[in-house]
Amino acid sequence: MTGLKNILEKGLEVRILKLGFIPSFVQGVGLVLLLIIFVGCSTKKETVQEPVVTETEHIVKKDENLEVILNNILSPQSAIEILNILTYADFPFRKCLPGDSIRVLKENGNFIKLTYRQTLTRKYFVFKNDEHLFVAMKYPYIDTVTCFLKGEVNSTLYESLLKTGETPVLVFRYADIFAWEIDFVTETQNGDSFYMFFEKTFCDSNFVEYLNIIATGYKGEIGEYHGIYYYDPDGNEDYYNLKGESLRKSLLKSPLRFSYISSYFSKRRFHPILKVWRPHHGLDYAAPIGTPVSSIGHGVVTYKGWRGGYGNLVEIRHKNSIKTRYGHLSRFAKGLYKGKRVKMGELIGYVGSTGLSTGPHLHFELHRNGVSINPLKVKIPRAPSVKKKYFSDFEQYRDSLLKYIEDLSEPVGEEISKE
Ligand SMILES: [Zn+2]
Repeated sequence: MTGLKNILEKGLEVRILKLGFIPSFVQGVGLVLLLIIFVGCSTKKETVQEPVVTETEHIVKKDENLEVILNNILSPQSAIEILNILTYADFPFRKCLPGDSIRVLKENGNFIKLTYRQTLTRKYFVFKNDEHLFVAMKYPYIDTVTCFLKGEVNSTLYESLLKTGETPVLVFRYADIFAWEIDFVTETQNGDSFYMFFEKTFCDSNFVEYLNIIATGYKGEIGEYHGIYYYDPDGNEDYYNLKGESLRKSLLKSPLRFSYISSYFSKRRFHPILKVWRPHHGLDYAAPIGTPVSSIGHGVVTYKGWRGGYGNLVEIRHKNSIKTRYGHLSRFAKGLYKGKRVKMGELIGYVGSTGLSTGPHLHFELHRNGVSINPLKVKIPRAPSVKKKYFSDFEQYRDSLLKYIEDLSEPVGEEISKE
């Protein structure tokens, strides 16, 4: 154990709190491991004792819990002690997820140190020194960077955005903001331009995630669009156009993100299985089995289960006497039950081919006042605009933001090159 002491005394940025304290800060962990092993080797020459240092790593699998894992790697006594100290440290046991890594270091079979790497940004350590257990948590260096991205469409918007070096996640989020304004499949053209002002975080210089898209725009033959993220003092947040109108509607356009409609709403359609003419009171979206299906609006689940030709069906009641049905599902979302409140865009199930169905697709119905109507013909109102009392605040924010973006867009050095 002297190795560990040495390291602590060498002034690495290590602060350890005893049992029961809030986890603290540890850095230079890789170094800690290496030095322990090194100390182990260096004693070899003295031939006094030859501590055998072993390290085992376990990657958490689905439905495994920490208690079982620790009991497999450690003695029952050590396992209990470690579980206790982790409990003291408010270790988020419930968040043990597949892929988490647990490394245990032993010296002569005795526990020295446990490293639990939960995510890229979170690590826990338990180590033993002079028969005392210590727990620590590493808070890595997280950096938030504001980025500005501007470009022109020269193939599809999707590809053009990816060419800027960002990931599809950002592209989807961009497309989601304008989902009600622009059809990115049919309405965009080469030469159109886009911009995005957003934040992303890095952990020890590794990209972690995108935060907010602060403002974004699109300009082309179809017009000029801006989306400005704004939250008012009451806590309402949304993307608004320059007039302060929400870019969202009260219902989503479609329960699936990427798919095409394979059968439209009609009063008369030849049913492919029943071989009779029947009205088709909904839309069919062709999509592979397992494609996530989301509720198109906030609402309450009024049916979840098997229902005749629908196969696995979810029915949701929304405001304004609107009801939606999602049929032929292969399975339901985890934790979905009758009576559950769901949000707009929340996962409710997966595309399948259950019930009277010729192949994988989602059968989607929209009812108003108990009558099925064509979802494509429903005029769906916008979500609420910026409140009147906050409008001047919004205007001020909008103008300063646009001015800032304009300055950023100004090509650096252009004036010099003109000379
Ligand atoms: Zn159908």
